[in-house]
Amino acid sequence: MSRTKYVYLFEEGQADMKSLLGGKGANLAEMTRIGLPVPPGFTITTEACKEYYRLGKEFPPNMMEDALLALRVVEEKTGKSFGDKDNPLLVSVRSGAPISMPGMMDTILNLGLNDVTVEGLASLTGDERFALDCYRRFIQMFCNVVLGIDHAVFDAVMEKYKKRHGLIFDYEIPADGLRSVIAEYKGLVVKEAGREFPQDVYEQLQMAIKAVFESWNNQRAIVYRKLNKIPDDLGTAVNVQAMAFGNMGSDSGTGVAFTRNPSTGERELYGEFLVNAQGEDVVAGIRTPTPISKLKDELPQVYEQFTQVCQTLESHYRDMQDIEFTVEKGKLYMLQTRSGKRTAAAAIKVAVDMVREGLITREEALLRVDANQINQLLHRQIDSKAELNVIAKGLPASPGAASGKVVFDADEAEKLGNEGERVILVRSETTPDDIHGIVKAQGVLTSRGGMTSHAAVVARGMGKPCVCGCEAIKIDPDGHEFTVGDMVVKKGDIISIDGATGNVILGEVPMIEPTLSEEFETLLKWADDVRRIGVRANADTPEDAAKAREFGAEGIGLCRTEHMFMAQDRLPIVQEMILADTEEARKKALAKLLPMQRGDFYGILKAMAGLPVTIRLLDPPLHEFLPGAEELLTEIAEMNARGQNNAVLAEKRSLLKKVYALREFNPMLGHRGCRLGITYPEIYRMQARAIFEAVVKLKKEGIEVLPEVEIPLVMDSGELALLKHEVLEVYEEVKAETGIEFEFTVGTMIELPRACVVAEEIAAEADFFSFGTNDLTQTTLGFSRDDAEGKFIPIYLEKKLLKDNPFAVLDRKGVGSLMVMAIEKGRSVNSGLLIGICGEHGGEPSSVEFCHQIGLDYVSCSPYRVPVARLAAAQAAVLYPRE
Ligand code: PEP
Ligand code: MG
Repeated sequence: MSRTKYVYLFEEGQADMKSLLGGKGANLAEMTRIGLPVPPGFTITTEACKEYYRLGKEFPPNMMEDALLALRVVEEKTGKSFGDKDNPLLVSVRSGAPISMPGMMDTILNLGLNDVTVEGLASLTGDERFALDCYRRFIQMFCNVVLGIDHAVFDAVMEKYKKRHGLIFDYEIPADGLRSVIAEYKGLVVKEAGREFPQDVYEQLQMAIKAVFESWNNQRAIVYRKLNKIPDDLGTAVNVQAMAFGNMGSDSGTGVAFTRNPSTGERELYGEFLVNAQGEDVVAGIRTPTPISKLKDELPQVYEQFTQVCQTLESHYRDMQDIEFTVEKGKLYMLQTRSGKRTAAAAIKVAVDMVREGLITREEALLRVDANQINQLLHRQIDSKAELNVIAKGLPASPGAASGKVVFDADEAEKLGNEGERVILVRSETTPDDIHGIVKAQGVLTSRGGMTSHAAVVARGMGKPCVCGCEAIKIDPDGHEFTVGDMVVKKGDIISIDGATGNVILGEVPMIEPTLSEEFETLLKWADDVRRIGVRANADTPEDAAKAREFGAEGIGLCRTEHMFMAQDRLPIVQEMILADTEEARKKALAKLLPMQRGDFYGILKAMAGLPVTIRLLDPPLHEFLPGAEELLTEIAEMNARGQNNAVLAEKRSLLKKVYALREFNPMLGHRGCRLGITYPEIYRMQARAIFEAVVKLKKEGIEVLPEVEIPLVMDSGELALLKHEVLEVYEEVKAETGIEFEFTVGTMIELPRACVVAEEIAAEADFFSFGTNDLTQTTLGFSRDDAEGKFIPIYLEKKLLKDNPFAVLDRKGVGSLMVMAIEKGRSVNSGLLIGICGEHGGEPSSVEFCHQIGLDYVSCSPYRVPVARLAAAQAAVLYPRE
């Protein structure tokens, strides 16, 4: 039987082996392969990690043996030897999953140091202080990651020493001081972990590999995977690599850089560098680093070499890279490269620029931008004309602006966020453990850390505003307030942050709507060229319609006329109509509504001149327009108590009676949709008349309009036939009255399972179908759309009974199958049947992809999601070409 290969030297791998070697391992191999300066090392595969779990947390047979053979090769390459007292090899042990999970899993540096090798390192480098500093860092990191001892325990020792000796910075602690710190550390290990710090370097290595495997299942990694929909069974690889030392003096250092600006996409080297430091100092955001341009002044040759390496990597990978590197005594070492996380704005600019630079094709550019992410570009910014009470300025780490109550704790941010409060999470620095709080916060503000710190990376990924490294704010350790100079900002006070400028502002600020960049427009034009499916908007007002057009909507796929009934000046008349006891009385109220509705339709059709507008006749249960019974009961009781007994009381009483009469146990399955039109044809007739009279007026003005009259909640062709007949009758009346003829269509929402099953009968009566997937989801799954999301869907998601919330992401298997059935049956009798979707799913990228695949003519979504749908539709067309 062939032996499974669990260990690959960097020379043996390449970039396309990510699932086996993890992203970091595959790219280290690739960089080695193309001749970049990478310290030698090897990768233990994700298969080994999976096997480790399968075996009940045991290393698979031969894995360690092979790792030690690979270690021998690294020893040969470096001329050093692991555990050697004179010339010790030190290694880093790092995690690396197939899909990047920045900061979520563990890393250990300087492994291989013990009481003996530390002396060897000291004499080898001629720098005792350096060797001791490495050792104390190693003990701290190892004990934290492997033995689970809190960092703070060790930090306190350092702080105590500095205080006692009047020092400010760690690097001021002399060698002797470090020796006493190390001695104290070792005592702490025994006290906290009940065992000695391991002196056997091979034991250290085994324990570290085990710890990295286990970090795959630490809490923050699990949360991150859930949030990013990363499967739990991928496992992490482990990279063991010879150390390069960034902490060997002023000609050494460590940095993180992006080949382009990850916030704006600008083509410029962008990053940060810390002189005389090790990698974790930058990534953890503990010290605020200097911009990479400083490297140009300090180590010009290294900078020159580094810029060349960046260019090589960009053209090799044909994408913006996020790079970690170390300089050891003036020599550059590459420690990582990966495709860089970027804001939506940067993603668009980089993609469009790379097409223009000839690096990628338009199709590739379309796929480079996450359609979900571009939502953030369509979000609000602070109005530049506003007077701002700027109290501090930090680094502009993730664009967008947000206001909210100050909270200092991730758990509290999560709790308040869940209760619907808007909060800004304020932390000295965030750690990956804060991720659940960041998810629920409007934005993040930190007092320390750089643009590549955890807070910044995570917030950018989520499209949340973030200001970091705002050193002017001092957070009190109890987490009740922060101060800026003399000013005190307490927990619960409102602040605003601007992630584009770094401003921290006291109080709420006015925001403005975003505009689209030239590159964004270009990308969307390319999207329009390739997409096969139309994009319309759901809009109920001329303003929304105009906004939708601006965002590229090709018509209105759903105008919900009930929203027009809710307006303050309409409601009393609508109530009069509902309360009418006779048809006569109802017609009187409807006559008052007619001119108003006509005006509504005139406005909206005009705003969409030349484009189709689907106008849906009244849909919701009538009691939605009436006051609640409890409210009325209280009012009546109060009037009674006051001894009031007049016409107003009588009116309230009759209103209450009507409210009771209209009350339903399941209003969503009750007297709504076309059932209203069937019981009160005069309502639908009034609406049809209003539409047609508006059309006539616009025709007279020479404006081209394409109205589509839509009947909701149809379950049988008979309903549609009956109501279509009413609509056509009204058309004939209006035509006779005005002498003007015009084109229009009559169609139906498909939002009940029965409608899908009998779609061929319904199609015989319909010019178009529009899937109302909100109701279709509700009725197919039997999940109330009003309650399910708040009550049990989160638990279903938690227990993985559902992959996604079916009201957000279309349930392809259930709802989707019904749609496919309806399309096939519908088109079998009416090949020209126009079919769209107007449920919430119409603006959700994976649902749009499905709509493309099943051959819909268009999707319709809220105006702000129109660009998202345009891009998602184009991506679907690139991935799944159809005739
Ligand atoms: C739907 O049910 O999907 C739909 C678009 O209609 P509404 O949300 O108004 O019920
Ligand atoms: Mg509906």
